[in-house]
Amino acid sequence: MAFELPALDYSFDALEPHIDALTMEIHHDRHHKAYVDNANAALAGTDWENTPVEELLTQLSSLPADKQGPVRNNAGGHANHTLFWEILGANGGAPSGALAAAIDADCGGLDALKAAMTDAGIKRFGSGWSWLVVDGGKLAVMSTANQDSPISEGKTPILGIDVWEHAYYLNYQNKRPGYLEAIWNVINWDAVGAKYDAAV
Ligand code: MN
Repeated sequence: MAFELPALDYSFDALEPHIDALTMEIHHDRHHKAYVDNANAALAGTDWENTPVEELLTQLSSLPADKQGPVRNNAGGHANHTLFWEILGANGGAPSGALAAAIDADCGGLDALKAAMTDAGIKRFGSGWSWLVVDGGKLAVMSTANQDSPISEGKTPILGIDVWEHAYYLNYQNKRPGYLEAIWNVINWDAVGAKYDAAV
């Protein structure tokens, strides 16, 4: 079954003023759609065309050599953006339950987590992602280049911040730190908490 572009469960303007509606529309309808279309094109007619995306990302080296790059970039892009839309929302709230306890224990608290993820995003040269992952049952902050996924490194991402310029350029231009500060207002912590519970 081919990959499909998931619908957002909020409107394009739901995250304003932190993320503007036009950025959301272009990002979802064009950028994410291109990853979906390109992943499907790369996998069409191969033994992997029905393989779940997480499985593809953990088996990149077993794919044919000419498929590894396209799948890494486009199946990676599909997985990363699917998570991104899920962990954003208009009513951000705050971490609760087991996730809140783990942020305190493993990250030194919410402020320290935000600082670490912001730093990872700012230091990612070029395009990539800043991540909160579950690794061996513990939370950790990391970043990846391009559309590389923590899944390919055996880690489970539960919160990802897209630091490609297409995620923020209309509103923030070259000011990635401003975007990385604002995005904390629109994190759906209940969604992140559900991903944490599923991962541990
Ligand atoms: Mn993106």
